[in-house]
Order: sequence, then C-alpha cells, then structure tokens
Amino acid sequence: MKKLLAVVTAGVLLASLGAACTKTDTNGGATSGSLKTIGVAIYKFEDTFVIGVRNSISDEAKGKVKVEIVDSQNAQPIQNDKVDQFISKKVNALAINPVDRTVAGILIDKAKAANIPVVFFNREPLPEDMKKWDKVYYVGAKAEESGTMSGQIIADYWKSHPEADRNHDGILQYAMIKGEPGHQDAETRTQYSIKAIEDAGIKVEKVAEDTAMWVRVKAQEKMAEFLSAKGDAIEAVLANNDDMALGAIDALKAAGYFKNNKFMPVVGVDATAPAVQALKDGTLVGTVLNNAKFQGMAILELANVLAEGEIPTKENTGYDIVDNQYVWISYKKVTKENINDVE
Ligand code: BGC
Ligand code: CA
Repeated sequence: MKKLLAVVTAGVLLASLGAACTKTDTNGGATSGSLKTIGVAIYKFEDTFVIGVRNSISDEAKGKVKVEIVDSQNAQPIQNDKVDQFISKKVNALAINPVDRTVAGILIDKAKAANIPVVFFNREPLPEDMKKWDKVYYVGAKAEESGTMSGQIIADYWKSHPEADRNHDGILQYAMIKGEPGHQDAETRTQYSIKAIEDAGIKVEKVAEDTAMWVRVKAQEKMAEFLSAKGDAIEAVLANNDDMALGAIDALKAAGYFKNNKFMPVVGVDATAPAVQALKDGTLVGTVLNNAKFQGMAILELANVLAEGEIPTKENTGYDIVDNQYVWISYKKVTKENINDVE
C-alpha cells in the first residue's frame, strides 16, 4: 500500500517536474524504473547497537531502494570525506549517523548546497543545526525515557531486595559507567536514571563514575578499577548501554560476583542479544529496549520518501513527523519477566 502510494506520488512528481527529475537521477538513464540511491554513513561499524540499525536499514531497503553504507571509523574528517563522495555521486538522499553530533551543521550545509535531503540518526544534531534546512530529519529515541526506565529497574530491585543495602545505611551507593561524553544518550541517561531512583524515594550516593565510551572492554577495565578502589562500597552499577553493562559484569565475575550468594545489580540500555542472554543467566537485572529494528525501518522509510522527491508525512511514511523534522521510537523496559517480548 505504502509502496503503491510512493510510486503513484513519484509518478505525479515526475509528470509535474518533467525533465528536471531525470537530471537528478544517479542511476543513469531511465527514471521511474530504476532504483534511487541512499548514501548511509555510519559513525563506526563495530558499535553493537548501531550494527542492529544498519542491518535493519539494509533489510528494509531490499527491492525498494539502493543503499550504499560506509564506515566513518569514528573520525569526523573521514565522515566528511565520505559525505562529499556521496554528494559528488549525486545520491538521492543521505542518512547520517554523525561521529560528532555537535558539528552536524557542517554536513547540513554541504547537503543543502547540493539539495540532497538528510536523515540523521542515533546521534542527535543540535536544534539550531536542525533549523538550518527543512529537508533535515532526525530518527531516534528520547534519551530521558531510557534513563528513567533504567533507574526504575534499579529502584524496583532495591525495594524488593533489602539485602542489597549491604552497609545498612538506607542509601544506595552506586557506580555509573557513562557512554561517550557529549552524546545525548550518555549525559541524559545518566541524569534521568538517578532522578528516577530518587523519585522512587530512594536516597543515593555516587561512589564512582567514569566514561567507558560505549565499549565493553573499556567498561571492564573501569569496573575493575572501581572495585579495587571502592570494593564492597558499591551496591549497584548503572551503565549507559548494554555493552558497558556486560563489561562491568565481566569484571564483577572476575572479582567473585554472581556466585556463592555474592550479587551486584547491574542495569544497561539497548537489549542487544548478549544482554538478553545475560538477563537469562541472571547476571544483568534489566535493560531498556532501544529498538534498532524500528529505528532502521523509520530511517529507510524517510530517506526513501525524500529520495523520491517527496516531503515525508504520516501518510507516506507511516510515522508521526514531530515538529516536521523528528521521528521518535519508544523505549521499553526489559527484565526477566518480559524477556519473551524482545526475542
Ligand atoms: C546506544 C549505544 C551506542 C550509541 C552509539 C546509543 O543510543 O545505546 O549502545 O553505542 O548509541 O551512538
Ligand atoms: Ca547502602
């Protein structure tokens, strides 16, 4: 149905724009029959969560539109070059997962100059940059929501496990493992997770906090450091994503946790496959589904509509376009109880 609508609208557009349309077709030659191309720039290919988004984009594109996906290797200058290449190839739309979201304005200027619409994802450009052009969109999830949910998971655990207050002082002593500084999901998840615990009427005390840049081995190292400095003083661990929660669990296991009644509540965000396995194993107490599949579908849908020269609307994409530029995908709390929902 959606496809049909897209074809019909594209047809109308072709008729009205006439020859102008053929000029922007990158696939050479005939217009309506050939597939459009979307240039997709990923910030870093090894990121576990983003791999899920990328796979969803590719799956969704099949038979609809051509996607060219490139790795920016976690370097903004490389990403800028890749985007320049896409622009010189005259792709029909761009989908960009910025390395440094604070300089997305540069990419917007380039795209605007070439009149190639852009859908950003996962790393939210600053509002002032989003306002630079009306053919700029963002697909993501509300960081506050995931922060609140992960805090609630820890609060629920704390309330139902009085023994978790190891030093019996009525205060939850926690360690925080943060994602990359400046990333909306690092700053906001940190803030809102603690807020949710406090809102549940629990007093908190931070005993350790550092960034592990979203990376499992880095989190393992940080957690090992926290444990040697603070030892038993830590009563819960909050990590801004699952990879880092799993890294913390690796270090905790090495320190004798998760056996002989020695337990540490650890919470993450994403609900990646290894995290769901850890939930089953009983090491992770909870996570928050960051829906990679739905985000990938929305990114592709918007970019496809834009590549066809249309303006994305609820009717032609199936998504609510908030403030004419944003598509928000909801998070969901995941614990052992509702694990089947994410499998
Ligand atoms: C995810 C992290 C991921 C990061 C990359 C976040 O939304 O939760 O797992 O590393 O995005 O930008
Ligand atoms: Ca305590």
